[in-house]
Amino acid sequence: MASEAELAALHADLTAKQADVNRTGDEVRAMKGALKEKKVDKAEVDKVVAKLTALKLELKAAEDAYKAKAGVSKDSSEGRKKFREDVSNALERRLFYIPAFKIYGGIAGLYDYGPPGCAVKANILQFWRQHYVMEENMLEVECPCVTPEVVLKASGHVEKFTDLMVKDVKTSACYRADHLLKDAVEDLLEKNPTFAPDVVLEHKNVLARVDEFSADELGALLTKYKIVAPETKNELSKPYPFNLMFATSIGPTGTMQGFLRPETAQGIFVNFRDLLYYNGNKLPFAAAQIGQAFRNEIAPRQGLLRVREFTLAEIEHFVDPEDKSHPKFKHVKDLEFLLYPRAEQLGAEKKPVLTKIGDAVAQGIVNNETLGYFIARTYLFLTKLGIDKTRLRFRQHLASEMAHYAQDCWDAEIECSYGWIECVGLADRAAYDLKQHSEESKQPLIAFKRYDKPREVEHVVVAPDSKVLGKMLKKDNKVVKEALEAMSEEEALAMQAKLEKDGEAPLTICTTNQTFTITRDMVKIAKEKRTESGKNITPSVIEPSFGVGRIIYCLFEHSYYAREGDEQRTVFKFTPLVAPIKVTVFPLVSNAKLDEEGYQISQAMTASGVANKIDTTAISIGKRYARTDEIGVPFAITVDFETLQGGTVTLRERETTEQVRIGTKQVVGVVRSLADGVVAWSDVVAQYPKVEAKEEK
Ligand code: ATP
Repeated sequence: MASEAELAALHADLTAKQADVNRTGDEVRAMKGALKEKKVDKAEVDKVVAKLTALKLELKAAEDAYKAKAGVSKDSSEGRKKFREDVSNALERRLFYIPAFKIYGGIAGLYDYGPPGCAVKANILQFWRQHYVMEENMLEVECPCVTPEVVLKASGHVEKFTDLMVKDVKTSACYRADHLLKDAVEDLLEKNPTFAPDVVLEHKNVLARVDEFSADELGALLTKYKIVAPETKNELSKPYPFNLMFATSIGPTGTMQGFLRPETAQGIFVNFRDLLYYNGNKLPFAAAQIGQAFRNEIAPRQGLLRVREFTLAEIEHFVDPEDKSHPKFKHVKDLEFLLYPRAEQLGAEKKPVLTKIGDAVAQGIVNNETLGYFIARTYLFLTKLGIDKTRLRFRQHLASEMAHYAQDCWDAEIECSYGWIECVGLADRAAYDLKQHSEESKQPLIAFKRYDKPREVEHVVVAPDSKVLGKMLKKDNKVVKEALEAMSEEEALAMQAKLEKDGEAPLTICTTNQTFTITRDMVKIAKEKRTESGKNITPSVIEPSFGVGRIIYCLFEHSYYAREGDEQRTVFKFTPLVAPIKVTVFPLVSNAKLDEEGYQISQAMTASGVANKIDTTAISIGKRYARTDEIGVPFAITVDFETLQGGTVTLRERETTEQVRIGTKQVVGVVRSLADGVVAWSDVVAQYPKVEAKEEK
């Protein structure tokens, strides 16, 4: 691999050669102009053109030299691809995940989790429940995946849950328009390291806005960047919206349209009334749901990152729209991590900034405390799982990237070999969802907000006189009465003023466009004072939405490395929290008594809830350690002849490869505490005698 100095020298050479080419190119253009005006002769021009051709060849050679060296660096796209292949090979070899229906050739965007993958996922979900549901007393629900159309019409999914698609005009192969644009611009920047800074900025601005372009804007950019179908190089259609929901019909008649849910949130919204009641009619409160979501992605890619069925873990936190403070914000306000607000994304630097969440809320960068609280808790959740905090950032949505009703949105993005990937979306969705379902279902989805003390409130009371109306208006009296009662306070006061002044006022029924003359004896309009203990409100919703598969995949990448000096010995440095198996038990050699001891220890581990595995194969201990490192088991116990005599075993920790000798009776409790994160390995090393063991390869 090239050193940094070597790369810098090659880059400097490349930049100098690019400058030569630019200068000579200008010269050629000037000479050609002069030739037209007959100020120079052709031979002179040809000389400069030949010089330019030679310089271009030199530039090409310098570019190749730079790319050859930079191409193998870890951060280049080739380097990232190689790393990804290594991780994927390790994951597929050890059955962390498997392409679904593989024996039939597989289906894009569908994956199975194998045994260690299932265990990692179960551990992450258990921790999610502990970190959110238990910690915040959330109300967990489980709703069906099959959802009737009416629900998803109300939520806006039937009309708007679309991505912009383009088709190869000859083969009809489908692509996501924004992805093609992103790939093309990234490729252009990577292949042209000598672009001038303002040109780089122009392209980076396109990348920063790639999620927010309209169909027309995207179409124009696809043309501008001359983007064609990647495989065939054929022309592409204009971008148009494609709905991502899987449609189905409910029941045998085929008359009831349904969909597989594209998110779990709607199940919570439609249960709002019951959940509020369960919570003693008090706000704020949160409901949570873990479950499958389905999206018929146009072009699934990037392995587990963009699939057609995946697990979501979602929280809907219902809060008073006039008070989004959070009583526990004080516990997280000093946490500092990478925020990437709008201004930074659109500025020249384009870098996230290490920020205290308390400052971000105080300065109005993050809209409110509750949203800030969930961002901070999500930072803690992800880093406790083992996500590298330097490769985690919270990116704010650009204004036009957000839905019109949203107050503020931030994505937790994790960097992996595919770039920065949105893994958690955190959005303040205001009252949109509850209002939509209220309107569609005709069930009020509201909460009663009790004031600290009763308040005296002035109301305008409209009291139509039914007798007079009946006599004067005959059959029209009912619709006029309803229209009078439906007037807003403003309209009623205006009518009262007119009645007082002129003795009569016009009333137009908007549905029929008829106008009636209202006289003073038909209606009484007066202001009245009432004492009220509270008012009805539609709560705002703050929604953190976790893509579990994306988090798992990024965690796999952040955990994978090869032991120094031995590329073959690969390790997943899973924290004990997420490790699929916490401890392995190895009888040192093949021996019935050692096997029996090992079996007893394994049984005791199981009884105390510690996931473990006994490995009685006769291969060397070093090889068995390597095998457990490869699936990220953090601890290993070896049963040897001292176990039979003195009742002790060795306990080895994966990262340090240190070992201690510890009593058979203590080891279960110690491993349990290590697995639960209650004690650290350094505590164990301080307490028990260390064993010097050299691991053979
Ligand atoms: P994207 O822009 O990447 O398609 P999105 O903005 O549509 O994602 P949301 O609707 O906010 O995503 O979904 C919430 C979370 O669900 C995302 O943060 C992501 O982690 C996860 N997610 C969304 N689509 C997929 C998918 N196709 N495969 C795996 N996870 C997904």
